Amino acid sequence: MFVINKDSFLLNVMTTLYKEDIIMYMSKMFIPTLREAPNDADIASHKLMIRAGLVRNLVSGVYNYLPLGIRVIENIKAIIREELDNKDAQEILCSALQPKELWEESGRWSDYGKEMFRLKDRNEREFCLGPTHEEIFTNIVRKEITSYKQLPINLYQIQTKYRDERRPRFGLLRTREFVMKDAYSFDRDEAGLDKSYKDMYDAYSRIFDRCALEWKAVLADTGAIGGTGSHQFMALSDIGESDILYCTNCDYAADREKAEFMLDTADDAEAEKPFEKIHTPNFATIEEVGKFLNEPTNKIVKSVVVRVGDRIILALIRGDRELNIVKLCNALGTIEEYIQMASESDIEAIGSVPGYIGPIGLKNAEILVDSELTHLKNFYTGANEKDYHLKNVNYGRDFTGKVVDLASASEGDKCPVCGKPMKMERGIEVGQVFKLGTKYSKPMQCNYLDENGKSNPMLMGCYGIGVTRILSAIIEQHHDDNGIIWPMSVAPYKVIVVPVNVKNEEQLNAAKQIYETIKQNGIDAILDDRDERAGVKFKDADLIGIPLRITVGKKIGEGIVEFKKRNESKINEISTDSLLEQVNKAIALN
Ligand code: ATP
Ligand code: MG
Repeated sequence: MFVINKDSFLLNVMTTLYKEDIIMYMSKMFIPTLREAPNDADIASHKLMIRAGLVRNLVSGVYNYLPLGIRVIENIKAIIREELDNKDAQEILCSALQPKELWEESGRWSDYGKEMFRLKDRNEREFCLGPTHEEIFTNIVRKEITSYKQLPINLYQIQTKYRDERRPRFGLLRTREFVMKDAYSFDRDEAGLDKSYKDMYDAYSRIFDRCALEWKAVLADTGAIGGTGSHQFMALSDIGESDILYCTNCDYAADREKAEFMLDTADDAEAEKPFEKIHTPNFATIEEVGKFLNEPTNKIVKSVVVRVGDRIILALIRGDRELNIVKLCNALGTIEEYIQMASESDIEAIGSVPGYIGPIGLKNAEILVDSELTHLKNFYTGANEKDYHLKNVNYGRDFTGKVVDLASASEGDKCPVCGKPMKMERGIEVGQVFKLGTKYSKPMQCNYLDENGKSNPMLMGCYGIGVTRILSAIIEQHHDDNGIIWPMSVAPYKVIVVPVNVKNEEQLNAAKQIYETIKQNGIDAILDDRDERAGVKFKDADLIGIPLRITVGKKIGEGIVEFKKRNESKINEISTDSLLEQVNKAIALN
């Protein structure tokens, strides 16, 4: 029998605090692990969160969270709460059900598009399931806060959001129902807003560090939320849906939707040549035309025709560039959902031919010109006539249009700040902060009275974190072939105690005692008391990713157990006397 040394910590704790807690015995717990991931699980984190029994899918983009999943989410929430509370933000909780009227006040009921889940009550009153809560928080504050003396204030909630995403996918990365932490700050002036924004930026930095994410903060477009400035926090990952451009020399970093680049001005010196029409039979793509003309694609202009309602728009960019949809939306003052590719008849209606579109001689079309083209000399465009292109076209001399930024930056483009080449990496957007200014406070009349009794609109900021998305992002960054490797800070349990043979009373009892002791010291632990082969239990422990494993086997008679960290392959034999110290040390190291 395993006899506990009288001086050992085990006995002390056991006699004072022992309490049977059946729930953390694995034989009784609801952890439905799977050997194989379902076919529709598309990325590592998605497969692992299903296999490890964290979540189950209900319908596309909607998940149910099981015990292990909930524990991780609660740990992430606790970190968020601590860091926000440290910055004097205060937690509230709002309803997901939001009345249309508030969204009409802000002007977003029609702007938000199909992503918004809309519904009616029994009296035909319209509601939405909140995709975000600017209107609701603004409404709360405008009713309750009237004086400069009550400002600044920063309110947040951790709550469920609904967005009818076009393509829900990647497990919890893009769902239609998800948990978000959203915060909203209200200040008297710009200086106050700057401080609130910086506080949140700093809190976010600490939150993502504590969640053990490798991340980068990047300049971001403000999108449908609106406002004057924004950063996104990106967890770096090849499966991320965002492209990040960052400078290799200075600290410029931006989402590709937003990223700018320094334009080449070398062509300015080139003289403008007379333009000519050339025959380009059956060569409709930029690459084909370039090959045929023996010219690089950066000498040919790409023409993209789109329709927004009744407007037909020709967007022009250099042939080797990609049209940036977000920049196009900003130039047109619309959202992506309202932009359609022009049909053949649209193209005919503006006096052109598909494949041979160009700006010269077009009728009834708005022309948007990427600013890069104003530096380019003697380029090619379509001639608006089948099988013909125009050579030596020059902006200003041959056509004009509204000059805007339309092209996406790419790897190797020059940093807009210092001119050194930029690199591109993929990221998962785990959070975003916005300076909203008066975008909501003005239309919704969220005002305060200053010292002189004058009414002013409050300056707002809003700050979101994708709580459930973080869970996926952490797994994406912390896993191996055997399963999840939870960082200590968010692990559902920090320690798993595995008796090798539960039929051996000595082993089982010792394992129970060790488990209880660890728990009584405030450390989350589970005991794998299942009557399974040790190999099976080790596999499950690895799959569910518990950071520390204590194996109680034959040597328990000598007071020896095995101690293994999930992120190391080494197994150490240690004495039960030093066990708690080792566990505490491993936890503190993380
Ligand atoms: P995305 O560009 O990925 O669609 P977003 O910019 O629309 O996200 P925000 O409005 O900034 O999202 O929401 C705040 C945070 O909520 C995001 O940074 C992200 O972490 C999370 N989030 C947004 N949409 C989803 C979703 N469909 N599923 C899970 N998390 C999401
Ligand atoms: Mg965002």
